[in-house]
Amino acid sequence: LNVGVFGGTFNPVHMGHLRAAEDVRQTLGLDRLLFVPSGAPPHKAAKGVAPSTVRLEMVRLAIEGNPYFEASSIEIDRQSPSYSTDTLKELGSSFGGKARLWFLIGSDAFLEIHTWKNFDEIFELADLAVMLRPPPSPDIAPPSKLSAKFTKTENGFVHVSGKQVRLVPVSMLDISSTAIRKALLEGKSIRYLVPDSVLDFLNNSAEQHLQWFQGSKE
Ligand code: ATP
Ligand code: MG
Repeated sequence: LNVGVFGGTFNPVHMGHLRAAEDVRQTLGLDRLLFVPSGAPPHKAAKGVAPSTVRLEMVRLAIEGNPYFEASSIEIDRQSPSYSTDTLKELGSSFGGKARLWFLIGSDAFLEIHTWKNFDEIFELADLAVMLRPPPSPDIAPPSKLSAKFTKTENGFVHVSGKQVRLVPVSMLDISSTAIRKALLEGKSIRYLVPDSVLDFLNNSAEQHLQWFQGSKE
C-alpha cells in the first residue's frame, strides 16, 4: 500500500497544492493520499492563520470527488504542536506498519527542512517526494549536515536507511496561500486559484475570512 502524506498549513488550500498532489499520486502510483492540515503551527505565529477546523473544512471541500484524496485531522486532533516525525510515526502504526509512506513536500519547504524538529528522523520514517514549485529552486540536495548519509540516484537521492528522496516533476503553478490571502484582503478575485467549492466557502464567510487572514505575514 503506497500512501502519500501531504502536510501543510493550507491557509487556504489552492490549485497549486491540488495539481501537485495529483501529479505525485499518478507518478508514484499512490493508493491513497492524505492531506494533513497542521494544528497550532509551530513555525508560523497564529496571527493570520484561520482556525484549524476551517482549514480542514476547506481541504475537505477542495478534494471532494477525488477517490484517492482524503483529509486527515490527525494533527488538528492533537493538543500539543505537531511535528512531522510524530505524524509519520502515528500514521505508520495506524496502517499496522504495512504501508509505504511517501511524505510530499514542496521544494521551498524541503530547502528549510533542516530547521524542523528531529528532521533527520524524517528520512528514516518515510520516502520523500519533493515537488518543484516556482521560482526555479537552486539545486535540490539533502541537508548538508546529512549529506554523508545520501547517495545520488537517477531521480533524487537514497538515504542509508534505504528510503528515497525523489524529485517529482509537477505542474509548476505559481500559486501560494500568501498571494491568495493578500488578494482577499485587498478585495481582489481569487477565482481559478482555488476550486469553486473553496471560493464559495470563502465568499460565504466574507467577514470572517478578513478576520482570519488579517495580519498574516506578507
Ligand atoms: P504560504 O504562502 O502560507 O506559505 P503555501 O502556498 O506555501 O502557503 P503551505 O500550506 O505552506 O502552502 O504548503 C504546504 C506544502 O505544499 C509545502 O510543502 C509547500 O511547499 C507545498 N506547496 C504549496 N504550494 C505549492 C505549489 N504551487 N506547487 C507545489 N507545491 C506547493
Ligand atoms: Mg508555504
